Amino acid sequence: MAKLYFRYGAMNSGKSTALLQAAYNYEERGQHVLLVKPAIDTKGASQVESRLGMTREVDILLAPDDDARQVIAAECARLVRDAAEALVPGEHRVACLLVDEAQFLTPQQIDDLFRIAVLDGIPVLAYGIRTDFRTQAFPGSRRLLEIAHSLEELKTICRCGRKAVFNGRVIGGRFIFDGDQVAIDAATATVRDEHFVTYESLCGACYLEESGGVLLPAAAE
Ligand SMILES: [Zn+2]
Repeated sequence: MAKLYFRYGAMNSGKSTALLQAAYNYEERGQHVLLVKPAIDTKGASQVESRLGMTREVDILLAPDDDARQVIAAECARLVRDAAEALVPGEHRVACLLVDEAQFLTPQQIDDLFRIAVLDGIPVLAYGIRTDFRTQAFPGSRRLLEIAHSLEELKTICRCGRKAVFNGRVIGGRFIFDGDQVAIDAATATVRDEHFVTYESLCGACYLEESGGVLLPAAAE
């Protein structure tokens, strides 16, 4: 039976790099993959972007109200048909679905990824961030933590050398602990711009030091 995998990590833990490597490994063996990304992520728009500089166009951008299983099934059929029409030798089927920024998918779309694995027999590798800057799970990540067959943590280190588990939000050079769950900086903003949003991966100790001991602000209830 195919499985749904959730590979999660803090910002800068190399999730997109791992995804692109996985795609390469499949294709090196002559197999087809489909790259999926939520449309909400404006960073890199329709591309998967690795911090190492590799980029690749995604095959499917999923809007929040898209029926993920239907959209993905149609794209699988198109890919297989195109390969057959181009007279590419060999057996054609999608061997794996690779999902970038999976935290931004809806819980319903995560359920669809589970159905695609279990009912349609296509393994799904979902990569994403576990929690937001206030240490709360993204809706997509929470659902993945609940139902994925396999959980794997991709690790990165904090500025102090310990393992980073949280994502601190930095605006205008200062850590910020309130605001919307999703804030992706505009491509036009500059570092000194007060609206420029960046993130720093932090260990628990450094996060608590920056937040003044607060993990879950009362306002975030
Ligand atoms: Zn630290």
